[in-house]
Amino acid sequence: MEKKSLFIRTLGCQMNVHDSEKIMALMETSGYESVDDIGKADLIIINTCSIREKAAQKVYSELGRLKKLKTIKPELIIGVGGCLAQQWGAKFIEKVPCLDLVFGTHNIHLLPELIAKIQKERIPVVHTEFHESVNSLGISVRAKNGKVSAYVTIMQGCNNFCSYCVVPNLRGREESRPLKEIVDEVKVLADHGVKEVTLLGQNVNSYSGTTGNGHAFADLLQKMGEIEGIERIRFTTSHPKDLSDALVSCFSEVDKLCEHIHLPVQAGSDRILKMMNRRYTMTDYFDRVDKLRTVCPHISITSDIIVGFPGETERDFQATIDMMEKIRFDNIFSFKYSEREGTAAAKLGDKVSLCVKRDRLQLVQSLQERHTLSKNRNLIGNMEEILVESISKNSREDVAGRTRTNKIVNFRGYNNLIGKTVSIVITDAYLHSLRGVLTEEEVTQC
Ligand code: SAM
Ligand code: SF4
Repeated sequence: MEKKSLFIRTLGCQMNVHDSEKIMALMETSGYESVDDIGKADLIIINTCSIREKAAQKVYSELGRLKKLKTIKPELIIGVGGCLAQQWGAKFIEKVPCLDLVFGTHNIHLLPELIAKIQKERIPVVHTEFHESVNSLGISVRAKNGKVSAYVTIMQGCNNFCSYCVVPNLRGREESRPLKEIVDEVKVLADHGVKEVTLLGQNVNSYSGTTGNGHAFADLLQKMGEIEGIERIRFTTSHPKDLSDALVSCFSEVDKLCEHIHLPVQAGSDRILKMMNRRYTMTDYFDRVDKLRTVCPHISITSDIIVGFPGETERDFQATIDMMEKIRFDNIFSFKYSEREGTAAAKLGDKVSLCVKRDRLQLVQSLQERHTLSKNRNLIGNMEEILVESISKNSREDVAGRTRTNKIVNFRGYNNLIGKTVSIVITDAYLHSLRGVLTEEEVTQC
């Protein structure tokens, strides 16, 4: 049977990137193959994000371009998935009539069936129901030889209802995959040469597994640590309120667990944290950071910060700056607060003007740049263990990998190093990466 071509555009976070991998894996079993040229595709899927208004706008402009393609090639099937598709459902087709398919965040597993229906009946299909037991969660991505790192979903959904966030409405309540299923998937990845796994979920540290004993995530990390062939374990994202002592201890007990944690703080003012419904205070957060740094002094801590939440005063904002000075994150993702329909914060008055939000974001970002650069420069002269992942984006003569603390390092080397863990001396430091050289011992072995 002649293969059909699939092009997927992914917008948004790592969860979406991994969902797109799942879509690809599933459609490959239905006779599709991936293409990089959108013009050659028989099926185009846009995997959308609606966390912030800006992400939603990107979807519109993307679909505007596809309208022209459909005029030239009427048999082309265009589908949208992800959060925005979940949010708009049938309204999406009213807004964008060239669409053939809208599928929700819990319906990925139905894709082959839905596409076959469109091919047969040539009518638009909308499928956004939530299913109680999430079949999409268990779709394994086929391990491809040569792949060094892989994502593995361990849970999905969120029960936290932070007042600004659409995720609980669009991704549903938390649901964890059974521990055995995750372990089996990681073993298959290891058999195919994967060296590093990143465990994914909106709130991985509330993973409940099959035991639901409150230590379930720490237990899962311990189990991951025993899988032969896997050298590095990472996870994202964790909520500060669920950062248990058992999980903190894993950073000293599980050798393969990399020394990096993404721990979104969102704001430095207790008043704003309360309005955000984050359910921790700054004292709690500082306490967790202290515990992490006591157990693992070189741990890299990254975070998310939102500026301009409704009612954020100059004083509240200053608390965010003070908190950043005190903690000195290795890096952050920072955002202007974006009002999202259906969230509790959308009903709050006292909005912060766009102009003030822009100024605050700039201050946060320039402070963080100083911290990141200074932390990176402190690594010059250090010997770091690097898992080599690919040829460098900057030069064909270089390869790129990451430190255990998740910093990108470029250095002179050949592709026979990909998949190997090598010792590198750091020679230069920039904002987004480090540069290094292989140690003499490694050069001799290469
Ligand atoms: N579950 C994760 C957590 O709680 O940290 C992250 C979820 S979300 C995909 C990633 C980040 O987007 C959040 O940490 C938050 O900083 C940001 N975000 C979510 N909703 C937002 C909004 N309405 N406006 C601005 N930033 C938002
Ligand atoms: Fe959104 Fe909060 Fe859940 Fe993260 S924890 S997904 S920010 S509701």
